[in-house]
Amino acid sequence: MTAVTSADRTAGAYDGVVPDRAWQEEVRRLAKERDAVLLAHNYQIPEIQDIADHTGDSLALSRIAAASDASTIVFCGVHFMAETAKILSPDKTVLIPDARAGCSLADSITADQLRAWKAEHPGAVVVSYVNTTAEVKAETDICCTSSNAVEVVRSIPADREVLFCPDMFLGAHVKRETGRDNLHIWAGECHVHAGINGTELAERAAANPDAELFIHPECGCATSALYLAGEGAVPAERVKILSTGGMLDAAKRTTSRSVLVATEVGMLHQLRKASPGVDFRAVNERASCRYMKMITPAALLRSLREGADEVHVDPAIADRARGAVQRMVEIGQPGGGE
Ligand code: SF4
Repeated sequence: MTAVTSADRTAGAYDGVVPDRAWQEEVRRLAKERDAVLLAHNYQIPEIQDIADHTGDSLALSRIAAASDASTIVFCGVHFMAETAKILSPDKTVLIPDARAGCSLADSITADQLRAWKAEHPGAVVVSYVNTTAEVKAETDICCTSSNAVEVVRSIPADREVLFCPDMFLGAHVKRETGRDNLHIWAGECHVHAGINGTELAERAAANPDAELFIHPECGCATSALYLAGEGAVPAERVKILSTGGMLDAAKRTTSRSVLVATEVGMLHQLRKASPGVDFRAVNERASCRYMKMITPAALLRSLREGADEVHVDPAIADRARGAVQRMVEIGQPGGGE
């Protein structure tokens, strides 16, 4: 029997010889058996998004995970997202189908580096983007998303120094918006944003004069576009900076026949489903996160069968990180941000 499913074509070799429908039924059966809720980030491959109980950004998914009655959370996303779910739901079992699914932005600062930076700026308030490890969150005062970063920094007294990490584009955007000189920015970045550069953004916008431009600054992959839009790289009246929920609403309402989207390409799947008549195109098709694509149908099946890979966060670190994450969850707009 051959195993040529759409999942195989997208995700590479599949070691179980199971047609699409049988794969989906097996996933549902195993999820029920494990009392598991399946969460999929917007940047997952379409097959994973379609089988999940919920899709969304990591903030929305963390909220769903914390509120769910299920005893097991299967987080189809990258590792820091699954860790965040574990920090908020320490009594639940959290699985990620492939623990190697990391994040280049989260890897750009370690807890030791952050401690050394703090030592250079005693008394500074640490604001970390949610794309950080649990250890870094434990050294953080407030976590933020792309949608509440400006608000979070404005909430800090003007005379306090702020250390902002790890995303330099989001940091530069916040610095410009707040006009704050005492905000120091860590020079971290996501490898995916290189696929969404200013020249390409301006060229694509000029070549499609009737198209709206949606920017989705979730993750580090599109924060460079957020920064560039603020610099005037594309005409302001055509630009919409949107959270996940806002982008799906805008997709349903748009009167444009075509929309350019500056984000990781996985988001296109949700947009095309939301509004099939609109031609959604990525600013750059190479803006794809290789870590997000590590969660394959085969990896999800293995995860459910074997209860792997389980995400552990040292309880002492989780306790220290929880306050910063809870502040983010309280301030973040529903469906918005990272
Ligand atoms: S898109 Fe970038 S910031 Fe987002 S998970 Fe991938 S590597 Fe990390």
